[in-house]
Amino acid sequence: MADKKSKVIAIPCDSYDEEKVYKCIKTGLSQLGGFESIVGAEEKILVKPNLLSASVPDKAIATHPSVLKGVLRLLNERGCTDVKIGDSPGHGSCEGALKTLGLKEDEIYGARFTPMSENVHVDFPEGETCKEFDFCKEIVESDAIINVCKMKTHALERITGAVKNVYGFVCGYRKAAGHVKFPNDTVFARMLADIHRCTHPRIHIMDGIMAMEGNGPGAGTPTPMNMILISFDPVALDTVFCYLVNLNPELVPTNSQGYRIGIGTDRDDEIEIILCDGSEAKIIEKNELFDRYGNGAFDVGREKPKNTFLMKYSGFMTKLARRPVIDTEKCVKCGICVDHCPVPGKAVDFKNGKTSPPVYDYKKCIRCYCCQEMCPQKAISPQKGLLRR
Ligand code: SF4
Ligand code: SF4
Repeated sequence: MADKKSKVIAIPCDSYDEEKVYKCIKTGLSQLGGFESIVGAEEKILVKPNLLSASVPDKAIATHPSVLKGVLRLLNERGCTDVKIGDSPGHGSCEGALKTLGLKEDEIYGARFTPMSENVHVDFPEGETCKEFDFCKEIVESDAIINVCKMKTHALERITGAVKNVYGFVCGYRKAAGHVKFPNDTVFARMLADIHRCTHPRIHIMDGIMAMEGNGPGAGTPTPMNMILISFDPVALDTVFCYLVNLNPELVPTNSQGYRIGIGTDRDDEIEIILCDGSEAKIIEKNELFDRYGNGAFDVGREKPKNTFLMKYSGFMTKLARRPVIDTEKCVKCGICVDHCPVPGKAVDFKNGKTSPPVYDYKKCIRCYCCQEMCPQKAISPQKGLLRR
């Protein structure tokens, strides 16, 4: 049975020193055969970071440039000559986000920036929850996608990691519409699993050196977890992230739905963690991993949903779920939250004019937290409702 387990490679790494990060990724990948066995030199490759919005590396919002450069360098050493890097950010351009991170196109080992701005409609009749997508054209044109995600909390799904990162495959503003079509954490997670089934990212690499806790994915607090995780299985990888922060993996919809739909496993006995510490590689149990490298105080939603029976009544649930609230002291009235609200007629708007902060209409609000995700001032946070979901 051992060879049927999903392997997750855990590589401790306590700095973003480029050479160190490169060596850690190289060591980790070697446990899975290296890029030699993962991609062909002649293939068209897309490296997909988490670029939520234009942000500097220290904020821990985006995948760190050292991790991206380490991956690109290894692809270059593999002999890959057609490598692009890009994401469809929630706000602003891909090129702007890459440049704000500090990446320069002439320093990324022959890879090229790609805009991820042109839409291609894709039918997916096999989809369980979603049977069509509007992907960026690079997703369709690539032979292999390397998913380089970031270890962060997430208001809707508790965490964002390997499973959630593929939502950036959806082109531009169409991402907001997806929140209306898939309006709660469970169906949204099923749709994400369908994206995985449709696109089959070749491998998942998580930057967990400086993670984000609290009000993630854009307004949380950077916190060191000093870890890089690598796996072919996105659910197993996110499950090991949960082990490291003492979060029950089954509470994460992207894990439970990902397992149900068959893109990976969140079951302890189906996951093998291989610790690459220095020159050693050895199998390690999840408890020992946590004891040595975990952070039980990591600020993430650990509470259980209070009434799963009510989950069936999505409209009722929404009224009881956590509400986004604006801190009017922090708000600069930029209107980005209003622009990103996907609900027709807007559930957050400048009802009192543009010289006052926007105001919520909680009857309309579907609790997608796009406003919270995109607020550049960290002025929006979900506040406790009667139920957590
Ligand atoms: S995005 Fe944030 S800062 Fe901008 S208007 Fe909304 S709450 Fe205020
Ligand atoms: S107000 Fe915010 S949480 Fe509510 S629907 Fe609009 S974007 Fe989503």
